[in-house]
Parts: sequence; structure tokens; C-alpha cells
Amino acid sequence: MNFRALLQVQATDHRIVQLEYRKQQLPERAAADVAKKALDFARAQVKKNEKRQGVITSEINRLELRGKELDTKKTKYETQLKSVIAMREVEALQHEIAGVNAEHSSLDDAELLLLDENETLDTALAASHDGMPHVESAANTAIAALGTAIAVLDADIAAAHAERSSLAALADADSMALYESVRARMSSAAVAEITKGSCGGCHTSMSPKEQAELKKVADTPDAVCPYCGCLLAV
Ligand SMILES: [Zn+2]
Repeated sequence: MNFRALLQVQATDHRIVQLEYRKQQLPERAAADVAKKALDFARAQVKKNEKRQGVITSEINRLELRGKELDTKKTKYETQLKSVIAMREVEALQHEIAGVNAEHSSLDDAELLLLDENETLDTALAASHDGMPHVESAANTAIAALGTAIAVLDADIAAAHAERSSLAALADADSMALYESVRARMSSAAVAEITKGSCGGCHTSMSPKEQAELKKVADTPDAVCPYCGCLLAV
């Protein structure tokens, strides 16, 4: 076994982890998310406003239709009014006409409100239409920039993996297997050197006796830090 060869493998593993982390944390990723959200929002606004305009159009059509019905009714009552003489009938017809007028007036009010709202929606939709190319191109640019940044990191990651493979090939299979199993359960270093009398993994200082004992078992599965359990290249 040769633990020293593992140090370089570990350095490459560490670099791969860092590169993967950088890939996830790319500022271009956040920028692309923001731009994509802005585009989704702008598109949703257009859809919402167009849908509302559809509702308004059919509501206005309904009011217009009802208005025509009322006009017909009123004409009918007014014609009848010309031919009745009895005061009671005159009053009844006048009452009907007043009712028709009141309903017509409230229809007109409702229609005016809807027309106002429609105009506001027209303005909003025109603004959305004008702004959409900008929002779309901003999203496309941000997504492209993210793609480029990812491609650069992917190339670095692929190179690091290739380097790791050649370094792993230089180490013996038993050392590699041991390294992988220690690495799987360690959050800190899986293999370290003793630097200035301390474990390079957990930085706990070791007595000269402990260090001497480790030297005796160098490059065996017993050459581990008694404090953190990492392999020690001594
Ligand atoms: Zn340690």
C-alpha cells in the first residue's frame, strides 16, 4: 500500500467537489432564473389580460342584447300608451316604461365601466407587446450565458475526472479501496499527512510516541489518526 499516492487523488477529488459546487452556485444560474421568471410573468400577464378581455367582450355583447330587448319593450309600451284611455292602464304602462328606463340606465353604466376596463387592458397589452421582445431577449441572453458558464465548468470537471483516473491508476488497488471506504464516512479529509506533529485532517497534535507508533504501521490499514480516523501518510 502507498498512502502518499492517495494524497493527490484526494486533492483531485476535492477539486471536483469544488467545481461541482461552483457549477451549482454560478451567478449566471441566479441571473437566468430571474430573467426566466420575468419572462414567465410577462407572458402570464398577457394571457390573463387577454382572457379578461374575452370575458368583457361577451359581457358587453350580453348587455347590448338585453339593451335591444328593452328598447323593443319600451317601443311596445309607448305604442300601447297612445291607445289606452283608462288612467289606471296609463299609470301601469308608465310604471313599466320607468322600469325599462331604469334597467337600461344601469345596463349602460355597467357597459361604460366594462369599456373603461377594456381600454385599460388595451393599454397594458400594448405595453406588454412593446416590452416582450426585450424581456425575451434578456431571458435568452441569460440562459445562453448560463450554458456557456456550465460548458466551461463541465470541461474543467471532465479534465479533473481524467486526471483523477490517471492518479488512481498510479495508486495500488488496496490503497484506493481503503481510501474510498474511509472517504465515504468522513466529512473532513480521508487521508492526511502529519504536519508539525498534528494530524492534517483534524489538526489534533500527536505525541512523539503516537507518531512513532504510526510510523511502524505506515502504509497499512492501521495507519489512521487515533482522533479523526483518517488515513495518515507517514
Ligand atoms: Zn485526525
